[in-house]
Amino acid sequence: MSVISLLPDPIANQIAAGEVVQRPASAVKELLENSVDAESTKIQLIIKDGGKSLIQVIDNGKGMSPTDARMCWERHATSKIKKIEDLFALNTMGFRGEALASIAAIAQVEMKTRREQDELGTLIFIEGSEVRKQEPVSYTAGTSISVKNLFFNVPARRNFLKSDSVETNHVVEEFTRVALANPHIGFVFINNESETFHLLPGTLKQRIIGLFGEKYKENLLTVNEHTGIANIYGFAGKPESAKRTRGDQYFFVNRRFIKNAYLNHAMVGAYQDLMPTENYPFYVIFIDIDPAKIDINVHPTKTEIKFEDEKSLYTILKAVVKKSLGQFTISPQLDFDQPKELQQFVPAFLPEGYLPPPPEIRVDKSYNPFSSKSQEITQKHTNKNDWEKLFEVIKQTPDSENNTLELLVEKEEISSRKIIQLHNRFILSQIKTGLMIVDQQAAHERILYERFVENMEKHNGLSQQLLFPRSISLSVADYVLVGELEKDFKAIGFVIDDFGNNTVVVNGLPADVQNMDEQKLLEELLEQYKHYKTDVRLDRREILAKAMAKKVSIKAGRSLSDSEMSTLIDELFGCAMPYRSIDGKSTVITMSLEELIRKF
Ligand code: ADP
Ligand code: MG
Repeated sequence: MSVISLLPDPIANQIAAGEVVQRPASAVKELLENSVDAESTKIQLIIKDGGKSLIQVIDNGKGMSPTDARMCWERHATSKIKKIEDLFALNTMGFRGEALASIAAIAQVEMKTRREQDELGTLIFIEGSEVRKQEPVSYTAGTSISVKNLFFNVPARRNFLKSDSVETNHVVEEFTRVALANPHIGFVFINNESETFHLLPGTLKQRIIGLFGEKYKENLLTVNEHTGIANIYGFAGKPESAKRTRGDQYFFVNRRFIKNAYLNHAMVGAYQDLMPTENYPFYVIFIDIDPAKIDINVHPTKTEIKFEDEKSLYTILKAVVKKSLGQFTISPQLDFDQPKELQQFVPAFLPEGYLPPPPEIRVDKSYNPFSSKSQEITQKHTNKNDWEKLFEVIKQTPDSENNTLELLVEKEEISSRKIIQLHNRFILSQIKTGLMIVDQQAAHERILYERFVENMEKHNGLSQQLLFPRSISLSVADYVLVGELEKDFKAIGFVIDDFGNNTVVVNGLPADVQNMDEQKLLEELLEQYKHYKTDVRLDRREILAKAMAKKVSIKAGRSLSDSEMSTLIDELFGCAMPYRSIDGKSTVITMSLEELIRKF
């Protein structure tokens, strides 16, 4: 008797499904790509509860016959490959014919579809791979697929899903990728009954602005170069718009989104010397390349890709982007017109065997686009080195742990101390046993951080009403984040109202915030938040408090009055952890008289 038996189909499907559908966003991606492949000109995505309870995609594409409407749910059902060669010539998105089968295995699915030429459409209802219903139905031309209760029959998977807002973010990310790759298609995205995106068909530039916000209008540089190896086009963000957090970096190879650390390295390399190294540039770059020269199917979710000649592509990409950045520095007002291929998306390939000439990069030789900036940067470095030299002495002092600072900064002494500010950055003060040096920014960040955490815990952050409420439109990810942090924002002193449509209205700011542009504050605060979010040791409030403290603190370079310095020191020593900066460094160092004497 054989101990081996074949897996029943529903189980085999469930297993296969795990590979294709990891979370709502993966189903969204497959459905959207199918709609794109069906030549739709309008696609609507509707989700509820992060896609956990509902994902629906409605398109006006070519629809399916009643037979296909049944067939498409079978594993390896695809209209896209008939013979193996097709795999290599493929320009469509999905090609393995298992997306719909996988989705049907782990959800309750309803589809309505009709081809233009058919009188009646088809309604089909499938639950865990079982067809429960199939009947004719009257329906407009196109296809609507709703996927309900994802993983309803795989509780382990369902429990594995993250919070609704995290899942929503993943969905938004997939939506963004498909929408960027297809600016000629209109997209609507409805999240929990409110319309998050309404993107009209247009140019790539319009699509970027539609997705990321109006502020990108002035920040995009055209990239456009045809070489024998590939056509490279799209937009790169101006260096000053680069952010501290990763994200908003998109490569599309033959209009398919891909991740590629090597090519990303080329991009970052092009920005070298134009922005601080810890920043990440924005980019949406399309690479059209002969499909025979790439291998897409190396990863199940198909976001990774292998190039036959990765090195050349690296070099070309870096040169092309550098050229755009160079041109911009020469004449920043120039607004290049949309290159044709951004609207048409017709990959143009050169005949096989054609050897590409090296890319021709013409830049005004006498002009060095990086000179003014790099000067500024070296300047800063020299300053810093000087500082470091100056403080070498002090760094060698025993750690503050050994010094009983608590005893040194007693009340009566504070009132009589002598204080001076050094280089608008450090506060020097005489203490009983010698000298104390406070880093003004680190100290203020510590003070604010503790205050904000306390305010959030007690819900007693003071706020100042704005004379003119300010409405601010955000990226969807940021909008969702503000929603997530609503309570804490309020506790800290923000008065923010939801205005729908990715817009919030700021009516009041925390009392500690002075003279700051509300939009900038909010955006940079969210950036900071995302930056600190990677630190798993901190909870949500601590992260927000840290981000706030960073944002609104007194910075190095600001000159302070005697009373300001005095208050700062008092408040610092009123903190629970006065000696540690919120980044884990020192806020204060001391030097004893003995040490000083020994130096002479
Ligand atoms: P693949 O996309 O790899 O072919 P899928 O499982 O995603 O596999 O889809 C199976 C088939 O169902 C497709 O090849 C296509 O013929 C058909 N199909 C899926 N979605 C749509 C749609 N929105 N409009 C028209 N046809 C569709
Ligand atoms: Mg597909």
